[in-house]
Amino acid sequence: MPEPDTSMMSRLTALCKRRGFVFQASEIYGGLNGFWDFGPLGTQLKNNLRDAWWRDMVECPPLGPDGKPLSIVGLDSSIIQHPKTWEASGHVAGFADLMVDCRETKQRYRADHIIVVKVLFKKKDNATTYTMQLSALDGDEASEVITRKAKKLIQKSGGGELLPINIGEGRPFTEIQDSETLALVIGPDAENPGTLTEPRAFNLMFPTYHGVFQNEESKVWLRPETAQGIFLDYKNVLDTSRVKPPFGVAQVGKSFRNEVTPRNFIFRTREFEQMEMEFFCAPEDGMMWYEFWVNERLRWWEAQGVKKENLYRHDIPDGERAFYSAATADIEYKYPFTAPNFGELEGVAYRTDYDLKQHQTHSKVNLEYIDQENGNRRYLPHVIEPASGLTRGLLVLLCEGYQYDESRASPEWLKIKPSLAPIKLGIFPLVNKDGMPEVAEKIYLDLRKHFTCQYDAKQSIGKRYARMDEAGTPFCATIDGESLKDNAVTVRDRDTAQQERVSIDRLREYVEKKLAG
Ligand code: ATP
Repeated sequence: MPEPDTSMMSRLTALCKRRGFVFQASEIYGGLNGFWDFGPLGTQLKNNLRDAWWRDMVECPPLGPDGKPLSIVGLDSSIIQHPKTWEASGHVAGFADLMVDCRETKQRYRADHIIVVKVLFKKKDNATTYTMQLSALDGDEASEVITRKAKKLIQKSGGGELLPINIGEGRPFTEIQDSETLALVIGPDAENPGTLTEPRAFNLMFPTYHGVFQNEESKVWLRPETAQGIFLDYKNVLDTSRVKPPFGVAQVGKSFRNEVTPRNFIFRTREFEQMEMEFFCAPEDGMMWYEFWVNERLRWWEAQGVKKENLYRHDIPDGERAFYSAATADIEYKYPFTAPNFGELEGVAYRTDYDLKQHQTHSKVNLEYIDQENGNRRYLPHVIEPASGLTRGLLVLLCEGYQYDESRASPEWLKIKPSLAPIKLGIFPLVNKDGMPEVAEKIYLDLRKHFTCQYDAKQSIGKRYARMDEAGTPFCATIDGESLKDNAVTVRDRDTAQQERVSIDRLREYVEKKLAG
């Protein structure tokens, strides 16, 4: 089916607003950049994804390579922790991007995203060659942007001839050290030279204060990841639960990062949710468990209905990984805004004993594990961390589920795995009379105890199907005149639009079987 001209992301964003999946936060005040609210359907879908993760990680984790079930327990640690946490983890010193401000346009850029190109031109009736230092955001269009801007500036200065531009000779802004050149650079959106500041480190953590005085001593941070809370409680968990390495501790919760450029809907936001697990094991088994978890996490996303060809394992090469990481693989998804390329959905990192060692040093508390079964061997466990975004995962479900088919009552619909769908069953009386609403209400009151149902008696059946398709509801049951006689309903399948007669007594079993499949 031909799709409309508007981009898929703008259509998906509009559908999310229209159907109550995702709203811009503080919309009535004009919104707040990088913050989003989840509406009734979005909250339900997000909770379902979270619960599926929790179930498959904590309640019913996979079997290990030896065929025995893994031991993974849950945790819910505080968002605000002792500030030393973030000194030990390296976030205070290192969790920063180098930023550049433009004094003319008041724009802020990541320094490593700016490319500076020396442009040569000759003025009219003058053989002398002049130069300009123009900058643009690095990317496919940088050459075009620079050429356009150079022509405009030459025009403004009375006209002249632009000499060929070689974008390959451009330099990243971060390499420009001398103040003379800095004074000549024209910012990516500026008209005048020298308006860019020197790069400054910009920490991505949100500071706040605890207690009544607001000073350096009372400064704390909103956590930028859920992982560190797990390391702080690692010893408490070891001492109070019947776990021993290899074992995992899992946590789901909010994290906050003051992202410089929040973008792409809920892909990169300043407040988001993460699902993270730290898996503690003996040092010699680290690489084995790392491979195990990368494969396991890829398989899990596929089991949530994400097509294999839309997932990609990106092994981060030596030199590009965090210095403490022995191996890292990102699980990437082909988002509409990255296609044909992929963008991160989850990172699986082999963090060695870096975090426990850091916290042991900073807290002066011994965090070693004593293995009594092996001659009281003492060691700091190594850690494998599968860290994924819950809100980013929700975006993946929405992108993957979005369908466009003009032959349907609602051309836009969401093909979400039935067990994850916010509403499992729509229940409709064909007309609002002749005893049908009473039967439908009874079914609704009975079945909502077992799975999410929605009763809808408004407008035509076609419109009701369309509403449910947009909400991603896998099944709809219609109660018609016959139902009063044969005690059966017509069940319509979202994906095939096929209808089937199902007895009311068997309806619960019918839906539950499909949800489990
Ligand atoms: P990036 O390089 O894209 O900033 P990251 O590598 O720093 O991400 P991690 O620290 O590994 O991300 O976080 C684990 C996961 O948390 C990511 O794979 C992503 O799903 C999610 N995540 C991280 N930052 C954000 C954000 N600003 N908004 C939404 N989700 C995020």
